[in-house]
Amino acid sequence: MAAACDHDHDIHGLEGRALQAELSVAEVRCAQEDQRLTAPRRRVLELLLQHGQPMKAYDLIASFTADGPPAKPPTVYRALDFLEKQGFAHRIESLNAYVACRRGPQSHAAAFLICDCCGRSREIEPVGLDALDDIATSAGYVVDAVTIEAHGRCGACRA
Ligand SMILES: [Zn+2]
Ligand SMILES: [Zn+2]
Ligand SMILES: [Zn+2]
Repeated sequence: MAAACDHDHDIHGLEGRALQAELSVAEVRCAQEDQRLTAPRRRVLELLLQHGQPMKAYDLIASFTADGPPAKPPTVYRALDFLEKQGFAHRIESLNAYVACRRGPQSHAAAFLICDCCGRSREIEPVGLDALDDIATSAGYVVDAVTIEAHGRCGACRA
């Protein structure tokens, strides 16, 4: 990612044992919910966890097969759809990217602190949901999903 500042922007996701353990947890969770973590779903989740940060769909498509032709886009999009519905990933609209979620167990309202300098995103507990619901209700709305995306600079980039 192009950075506005010149400090180290290395960000790492999960690898090795920690990555395998997280994928096993996902498999168990799927089985408990009568869902299957098929090979493509597992692969996309693996990539997101490895990356640790929001990832664009075309990067997922490109890295899907380690060596060989890239994945068929629908395969990746269908996997992302599943991961999102099951609460394993979120779509961050303002970045047009996806990020793994380890907060489970189901899909949930989410809030992100996004650093516009290094691209780091951190999921936090959303606040003010009750107030939002009240306002929505009085306006005659039913809220199905909420994702709050706050942009700014992380501590490392402000230093
Ligand atoms: Zn989440
Ligand atoms: Zn940053
Ligand atoms: Zn920075």
